[in-house]
Amino acid sequence: MGDEIQDILWTHVCDQFREEEGEAVFKNWIAPLIVDSIDGGVLRVLAPTAFMRDWVDSHYRDALMRLVRKENASVITLDIVIGPPHRFDAKLQTEKMMRALSKNTKTEDTEDALSLGLDPRFTFENFVVGKTNELAYAAALRVSESKEVPFNPLFLYGGVGLGKTHLMHAIAWHIKEHHPEREVIYLSAEKFMYQFIRALRHKDTMSFKERFRSVDVLMIDDVQFISGKDSTQEEFFHTFNALIDQKKQIILSADKSPSDLSGIEERMRSRLGWGLVADIHPTTYELRLGILQAKAEKISTIVPKDVLDFLAHKIGSNIRELEGALNRVVAHATLVGRNINIEMTTEVLRDLIRSNDRRVSIEDIQKKVSEHFDIKVADLLSSKRSIDIARPRQIAMYLSKMLTTSSLPEIGRKFGGKDHTTVMHAVKKIEAMSKEDIAFAEDVDILKRVLQV
Ligand code: ADP
Ligand code: MG
Repeated sequence: MGDEIQDILWTHVCDQFREEEGEAVFKNWIAPLIVDSIDGGVLRVLAPTAFMRDWVDSHYRDALMRLVRKENASVITLDIVIGPPHRFDAKLQTEKMMRALSKNTKTEDTEDALSLGLDPRFTFENFVVGKTNELAYAAALRVSESKEVPFNPLFLYGGVGLGKTHLMHAIAWHIKEHHPEREVIYLSAEKFMYQFIRALRHKDTMSFKERFRSVDVLMIDDVQFISGKDSTQEEFFHTFNALIDQKKQIILSADKSPSDLSGIEERMRSRLGWGLVADIHPTTYELRLGILQAKAEKISTIVPKDVLDFLAHKIGSNIRELEGALNRVVAHATLVGRNINIEMTTEVLRDLIRSNDRRVSIEDIQKKVSEHFDIKVADLLSSKRSIDIARPRQIAMYLSKMLTTSSLPEIGRKFGGKDHTTVMHAVKKIEAMSKEDIAFAEDVDILKRVLQV
């Protein structure tokens, strides 16, 4: 029974995790996950909400992965996806955490809880710069190199998986290397909260304050999480002001700009925007490709250029997902000893590609292609055979195959009831022509890009 293997594995992982990270963290973030399957080196777990998925992904992925691999070294990738709800209510998270904390009488070592826990991969060298993140990158570098405080605070914001945590860790690494005398604290807003609540409970807020106020650089990640908790917010604000007054560098990140942070007092919101607010925009195709190339260079498996290109086109959401996709493909190829090509990539990433594809429909493709060639959609659906109609029709069929998850017969049907062999022929024809004629390939590529924005 395959089911049992993953259940046993997961139970062990949960026990270990609980021991390492404590009951509260476990209860809040790991207990609500359901283990789904192990397949081809991929362990899949379901998270009840997108928020949970992102949180677990950005905070506990590495810890989980380490524990999973200790149990079963053949697992190469951990896939966290949104699944059915399971004893979980997002709104109750904070209350639950507070309650768990007040029951838990064991004191953790403060030093330990404040320890950096920096990811060794998150350095400036490993950060690929493009138009969408150049401001944030430049600001982060400036803060790391500068003796003076260039802008305070530095506020980085952007969507999930776009590199905020990476940049913060990079700052910390840089300072540790070049100015080891400067004391840096990096922690998530969640940990900050956790520390503060614990200090309150132990009636020890003095040393908590001292601890934070004695640093040179304080980084707090995901501050949107502080919103709404009045006492923590108050304390955060005091600490923040004290550090700013002492000209200590503060760096914050959030998924929204200061002015859009809800549940944060007005005076605080405006103060957060006093320094430099640098946003990271959604990725572009060029950046995604650059990142994939950089990652591919670091691994021993060969990933053909067209596959990287394909991934950069297909996985548009965020960089974490993009990396996950590449890892999955590589893991699969290694395990089953197959070469990597577009076909197997499509197969391995079927679910991911589908969720990234949802926006493009065959109708969109027909419309864009006929606009591009200045013909009527009706012509594409007709059985006219003149080359100025037939070629665009083939391109549209090819794009339908590439950009949607429709099957060949489905595509045929949507082109005025053509046979699936006609569609297959069109796909092959366009592929062959693209190989031979660079100008043609570019033309098709442009259409592809237009359809993907
Ligand atoms: P965020 O904190 O904004 O949610 P992360 O910093 O955790 O996102 O980034 C998610 C993943 O994407 C990490 O593995 C990170 O190394 C990678 N990543 C993000 N931006 C870049 C980039 N510009 N170059 C290389 N890797 C990146
Ligand atoms: Mg992050």
